[in-house]
Amino acid sequence: MTEREGLRGNDESPQGLTPAQWAAYKADSSKCIFCGDGGIVGGSFEYCGDSPSQKVTCEKCGASWFDDFTLTSVSGVEIPDPVEGGP
Ligand SMILES: [Zn+2]
Repeated sequence: MTEREGLRGNDESPQGLTPAQWAAYKADSSKCIFCGDGGIVGGSFEYCGDSPSQKVTCEKCGASWFDDFTLTSVSGVEIPDPVEGGP
């Protein structure tokens, strides 16, 4: 098992969150961790190493955090035509 697979389905609450907040957010990540409002907005992606994180801000209470993503799959693959002189 790799370290990344070990992170998937992590039941331990991240720093700053109670286990109850973490469980609720994992169950429904469209709602604010802190006030439960549905008006959270995803911002830009940032890359730390090879795993992206997306900043999320709650417009109601002003809380913000980063959703950390683990690659599980890809979809919508489009293969370009071979470029002449390319590799
Ligand atoms: Zn909030």
